[in-house]
Amino acid sequence: MNNTIYRPTWAEVDLAAIAHNISQMAGKLPGHCNVIAVVKANAYGHGAVEVAETALQSGADMLAVALLEEALTLRGAGIVAPILVFGSVAPQDVPVAARHDLTLTCFQTEWIRDVNQLSLPSPVKVHMKWDTGMGRVGLRTKEELNDITEALRASKSINLTGIYTHFATADEADLEYFELQQDRFKQLWQTFKSIWDKPVSIHIGNSAAAIRFPERMYDYMRFGISMYGLYPSDVLKAEQAIDLQPAFSLHSRLIHVKRIEPGESISYGATYTAADDDYIGTIPIGYADGLIRKLQGMDVLVNGKRMPIVGRITMDQTMIKLDQHYATGTKVTLIGQQGSESIEADEIAAKLDTINYEIPCMISERVPRQYK
Ligand code: PLP
Repeated sequence: MNNTIYRPTWAEVDLAAIAHNISQMAGKLPGHCNVIAVVKANAYGHGAVEVAETALQSGADMLAVALLEEALTLRGAGIVAPILVFGSVAPQDVPVAARHDLTLTCFQTEWIRDVNQLSLPSPVKVHMKWDTGMGRVGLRTKEELNDITEALRASKSINLTGIYTHFATADEADLEYFELQQDRFKQLWQTFKSIWDKPVSIHIGNSAAAIRFPERMYDYMRFGISMYGLYPSDVLKAEQAIDLQPAFSLHSRLIHVKRIEPGESISYGATYTAADDDYIGTIPIGYADGLIRKLQGMDVLVNGKRMPIVGRITMDQTMIKLDQHYATGTKVTLIGQQGSESIEADEIAAKLDTINYEIPCMISERVPRQYK
């Protein structure tokens, strides 16, 4: 896509907010615990390279992504910090990871066996993943742990540098399952300690776990959603144990303003019909930008006031009902603040019956990110 921006629709990413959130988190952690900045999925839609650079400058020691492609994007931008890939990387792709000094996630003996057959420029670093209850990937039993640890000990191609697990319910009010996962982790750790004597780093906590239990974190915590200034759940929002600043906002400008008469309708399906004389504004953003059709009825901000989206959201354009005439070019904020009013990602998530994580992720790459 051409890099010149013509359409007045953009997302603003406040890198100072990201730096602030990291320093808030670091301030809560014990001195031995460092931050891994989770920048997968294009840094939750914020822009991986820009966020990664900011996170590293703000004290994060390592980066984490889901995909090999995402790690290579960071390396391609000249980032030399350690990068952990959470997702499964096929054995045949391990030489690429080794060449770029990436740390992979390991949880299967067959994978180790296949990697041992490869000719690598240098041993590939891995963190071993333990599934203590998330149920995604990872070894679960002491038998599997014994087998994998044995295979790693014998491998000349793989260098085990870390161990990790991931919590399924650290953001919930009921912490019983979270405690169960911790217990399982400790049991596996007892076994591991008795069969492995080289140093490894340990990390168990995401934003929710680390904000609530900073003292339980080991060598690292993995900072995702709250690095971007959002609380992992309403429970954490209510607890207010950390001061966060949202980094993402979304804006557009009125490109057309008209007056319609009672009885006149707006957009596909004519689902909105004016009851009175209405001022209708059009903004150049639509479902192809991630403003999905289910957001019909959602408020946006114009002149510091809430105005609703009316009629169906179309692929590239959306209509809003204005309280008066505004000049074309007037700024419209879809996520963020205008004056004393704000529309948070949390409010949009609630309207869509989902979690705030999805909101910046769903704003498509067609919307340029501007950094401040
Ligand atoms: N660790 C792993 C393995 C993850 O998959 C994720 C994100 O889903 C995170 C950490 C970050 O979690 P959060 O965004 O809740 O901080």
